[in-house]
Order: sequence, then structure tokens, then C-alpha cells
Amino acid sequence: MTARRLDGTLVAQQIQAELRGEIEALRARGVRPGLGALLVGDDPASAVYLRSKARRCEELGLHHETRRLEASASTEDVLAAVSDLNQRPEIHGILVQLPLPAQVDAQRVLDAVRPEKDVDGFHPVNVGRLLQKRARFVPCTPAGVMQLFARSGVELAGRRAVVLGRSEIVGKPMALLLMHADATVTVCHSRTRDLAAVTREADVLVAAIGRPGMVRAEHVKPGAVVVDVGINRVSDPALARELVVPEHWSEFERRGYALVGDVHAPQVAAVAGALTPVPGGVGPLTIAMLMANTVRAAAGAP
Ligand code: NDP
Repeated sequence: MTARRLDGTLVAQQIQAELRGEIEALRARGVRPGLGALLVGDDPASAVYLRSKARRCEELGLHHETRRLEASASTEDVLAAVSDLNQRPEIHGILVQLPLPAQVDAQRVLDAVRPEKDVDGFHPVNVGRLLQKRARFVPCTPAGVMQLFARSGVELAGRRAVVLGRSEIVGKPMALLLMHADATVTVCHSRTRDLAAVTREADVLVAAIGRPGMVRAEHVKPGAVVVDVGINRVSDPALARELVVPEHWSEFERRGYALVGDVHAPQVAAVAGALTPVPGGVGPLTIAMLMANTVRAAAGAP
């Protein structure tokens, strides 16, 4: 069997096409949705992510700006930048690019974002609202995965879902959303015993652990839907040869590294019923949902 490819790029394009109408309607009312990003330090991966987000804003005609702070910035410096974005009327959504440098108290910073502008859905008020099934802003990555399920005809009600990873930004909200969609949900993490036995129960498996290629054929029930959230940079040629699909080989040779997921795609594609690719799976959906949340913020989400 070869798994059906769940194309995140295509679904992201659909979502963005739908957003265009909403953006036009807002602009007719004199509102141009605006996203303000904060980048602290010079982490190259963060800079790449922010550039993609900025490009998407431009494509959709959203206002965007990035405030850059030195890697040595203090918590107070970052809080001052958040406070400024909180007050600016043309900024509807605020994005604090993670990770923040170690000396910055990330929790205090995220808590300082006004909940009405918290388009990442990380503020405790928004986390609580999601828990109570009356979400305002759902974290972008799990929200994107839910869109992928809905638009690819993946049934969730009554099915066994396993989420691998329990982070605040992916695993936990993903588990809540699946539960709200009436799946029977199990969450696994680094202390889970006999992981493969648990994940093999899954009709729907979402992997978000940050371990290149860790989810292998033995972790997957035949025919399962597998979503690979992981984005890992691999530069070891032996590992790359094992994990990188042939269509991305030339990129590896050109750049000296490749992006791979948490799923061993060649093995799992032979067992699963459907699988998201990396790249081109969850990544584009995350950005599409950030755009959607920013538009909702500009429209005055309740
Ligand atoms: P975190 O590092 O915050 O969380 C990782 C989770 O995986 C933890 O809960 C950890 O368990 C668990 N874990 C780690 N190793 C194992 C293991 N060997 N067995 C079982 N569980 C394990 O990561 P994130 O959630 O932030 O990100 C996960 C991945 O998703 C990364 O590759 C990241 O780059 C990617 N990502 C992709 C996005 C996208 O747009 N596609 C967006 C966000 C993230 P424990 O809690 O016990 O430590």
C-alpha cells in the first residue's frame, strides 16, 4: 500500500482564497488587517519562518511589520515592545516568534499580549477558552491540522486518535481539538511506556515530538491517517539518505541539509492509509491559520 498524500499546501491555498473575500470586506470598511511580529535574537530558523509569514501577509494584502530586538534583550525590553504593539490600532494580531533567548521570561511575555490580539492562541485566557470549547484563537498548527482533516474527508468522531507530544503549542491543543471533535484521544510523551503499542492503536496519529524519523512502520496501524508535524533539520548524509524522499534529494545536495518530519516517511507511507509530507504538509497550514486568526482579530473576534 502507498499512503494517500494529504497535501497541506493545497488546503492552505483554499483557506487563503476564502480569506481574500473577508479581507476585501474589511478593507471596504476601512480596516486593513495588520500583524506585528517580534523577533528577539538571530536564530536563523526563526528568521526563515518570519519571512514566510511576511510573504504570505503581502500576498493577501495584510499590513505586517517585524520588530527586531538584540539577542541580549531583557524581559523588560521585550515587554516594552509587546506593550507598544498592544496599543497600536493598526496592529490586530501580535506574534512573538519562539524560542525567546534563555534570559527572557517567555511566559511573562506571552501573558502580556492582549488576548484580543493573541493570534497564536498562547495567552492563558485563550487557552482556557479553548479548553471550554469556546475558543477565540486556536493555536495555528493544531487548527491547521483540523482544517486538513475536515477538508480531506478524515472522519474523527468515535475514532481512536493518538497525539505524540504534549507541548503547549502543538500536542495539548491538538488533543483538545480532537476530543472536541469526538475522537477518543490518547496523549503520549517521553515517559510513555511501550510507545509503539499505544500508537498502533491509532486510527489517526499526530506526531509532534521534534525527533527526525522516529515514528516508524511498527508505530503505525495499517491504513491509519498519519500527520507529521515535525520539522527537523538533518545534515547527516546517512540519516538524510534514509529519510529524505527522492524528490528533495537535490535540495539536500545543494544546501547541505534537508527538512524532515518526525515520521519515517518511506517506511510509514508503505503502512499508513494517508500521510502528510514534510515539507508541504502542516507547515503551510500553520501560516494559513495565522492569516485567518489575524483577519478574525481585525474583524473583532468575540
Ligand atoms: P516540544 O519540544 O515543545 O515538545 C516535544 C514533545 O515531544 C514533548 O511533549 C516530549 O515529551 C515529546 N517527546 C520528545 N521525545 C520523545 C520521544 N522519544 N518519545 C515520545 N515523546 C517524545 O516540541 P513542539 O511541540 O514545539 O514541536 C514538535 C515538532 O513540531 C518540532 O519538530 C517542531 O519543529 C515542529 N513544529 C512544526 C510546526 C509546523 O508548522 N509544522 C509548528 C510547531 C512545531 P515530554 O513532554 O515528556 O518532554
